[in-house]
Amino acid sequence: MAETEKKKRQKPGRVLANTLYLLGMAWKISPRFFFGYIFDALVLSAWSILDAWYFKRVFDLLDMGAPVSEILWMLLAVALTTTLLLLSNTVYWWTENEKQKLVIKCGLQLKLFDHALSLDIGKYEIPEFYNDFIWAVRTADVKVCEILKVVRNLIRRVSSGAAVFGILVSLDLFTAAFILVLTASGAVCSTYINKKCYAYDMESRRSERVASYVSRVHYLADYAKELRISEAGKVLEKLYDESTEERRGLIRKYFGKVQTCGAFWNVIGAVKDNGLILILLYKMMVEKTVLLGGFALGVTSSWRVSSALQEIITAATELAKHSLYIEKLRTFFDTKTSIEGGTKMPERFESLECKNISFAYENGVEVLHDVSLKITAGEKIAIVGYNGAGKTTLIKLLMRFYDVTGGEILLNGINIKEYDLDAYRKVIGAVFQDYKIFAATVAENVACGLCSDDAREGVTAALDAASFTDKLQKLPDGLDTHLTREFSDKGTNLSGGESQKIAIARALYKRAPVTVMDEPSSALDPVAEYELNRHIENALTDQTVIFISHRLSTTRGAARIYMFEHGRIIEDGSHDALIAQNGKYAAMFNLQASKYRT
Ligand code: ADP
Repeated sequence: MAETEKKKRQKPGRVLANTLYLLGMAWKISPRFFFGYIFDALVLSAWSILDAWYFKRVFDLLDMGAPVSEILWMLLAVALTTTLLLLSNTVYWWTENEKQKLVIKCGLQLKLFDHALSLDIGKYEIPEFYNDFIWAVRTADVKVCEILKVVRNLIRRVSSGAAVFGILVSLDLFTAAFILVLTASGAVCSTYINKKCYAYDMESRRSERVASYVSRVHYLADYAKELRISEAGKVLEKLYDESTEERRGLIRKYFGKVQTCGAFWNVIGAVKDNGLILILLYKMMVEKTVLLGGFALGVTSSWRVSSALQEIITAATELAKHSLYIEKLRTFFDTKTSIEGGTKMPERFESLECKNISFAYENGVEVLHDVSLKITAGEKIAIVGYNGAGKTTLIKLLMRFYDVTGGEILLNGINIKEYDLDAYRKVIGAVFQDYKIFAATVAENVACGLCSDDAREGVTAALDAASFTDKLQKLPDGLDTHLTREFSDKGTNLSGGESQKIAIARALYKRAPVTVMDEPSSALDPVAEYELNRHIENALTDQTVIFISHRLSTTRGAARIYMFEHGRIIEDGSHDALIAQNGKYAAMFNLQASKYRT
């Protein structure tokens, strides 16, 4: 633990570099926000100095027996200036600052979203990266404002604290030293407490993720049915209990020490406050080196200086704490995708070929071995096999979500790594098994973006080809009906089969040179499946299509069928040829056909 703590502690130079990194980011997003914060800090600092000066001046005037009118004029001038300063601060705080904070938050979130999308999917499988990524997206916008607030306080306290400390030193050196020493001791306590709280935060992240997963499963509609008909709820509750117990353990581990240190900190505070009064009384009544005005000034200045020092040290500690967070943000932004695009632009589609490819996910287990297949323009091929055979993995490789670990994939005879990534991905339109419906209108879901008036006709045609027309006619606002109830009670939730049709319409609308249909009709009953397949066949006549399924009724029409097992192609050929071969494909087909006959 001591070792990890040591590794986590950052050198002041690094803290400064990280803080500057974040400030630079905020500056790029909104320079106005930046200036506003500094202006505000200086206004508040001027107010503190004025306040201290005015206090001393009143005592001086009284001591000198100045006329009451002079004191009243000064009071009026100070009251007016203070009102102006505070008014400008209030106006800034409640209007400009709130607006600019929003600009900063949005700017940073958009940067995070953009960067997340630029990364390869493989990164999501590295738990450490994924944790930091979730943290970055969830908290960075709040953090950036928090950090800027700390910097603002630092500027404010350094400028006002330095001015008032000068007054205190001129009053009495011993008193100034007494305050400094005790404030520094308090700062040691606060640093220790902050460090422990941070360590607690870090260590409790795993249990927080477990708890959030369990609560998510309970409120997401996707899981509602399973939870009602299985014992899964009990397993989840056990997980939740364990995560709570884990957190209880962490609270015991960290907060006992935090409590003791907190109590010690309070004692230091009490010694400082009361000790100072005793010292000043001693100096005033026994040594007679301090007058009544000096006594009052000493008490207030000491409070100001000690609170300024305390805040400066707290701000430095806070910045060190935030620096560790910024470090993670930097790591996230510095992480580059391992899927690099090339410079070539794809020409007219001729062929897509896998040449002896093999692949292993992040865990290193090879799931595809020496796979070779080819599809040429206008062909329809099918990839079949039981679950876990490697069919979807092959498609992910074709889409370049991952890169092959052996062999190569060629588009028109050229390695796909040589093509510009975005342009290459446009060659393939895919309907994935785990497609997602977005909380947007039907039209936007099909167009996968904003749907212009010109695009509506194409969207309607794609929905028709995906057998969605009957349902579309029943939807309250047709193409403009909102899907999911995420944002509105009037939204429509589609059934599994209907959602799948939307996903299919997406691929049909895209009309990419190659269309991939991963289990296109898996959520449908046999009649609907037959009807959908007929529609898809019509819509995709003359198109290049890769069908993936373990339901062989979907794929029997393909020109060539590749049968996968344990990541290898074990048979290939037309449906008739494979049936004649009487191998595993024929066995699988006969087994499925017998189910329909009985
Ligand atoms: P299919 O689509 O034929 O059902 P998949 O391609 O999804 O099969 O899976 C092939 C193998 O790869 C399976 O053993 C599966 O457990 C494994 N696999 C799939 N996705 C991942 C992943 N992200 N990380 C590790 N292994 C995976």
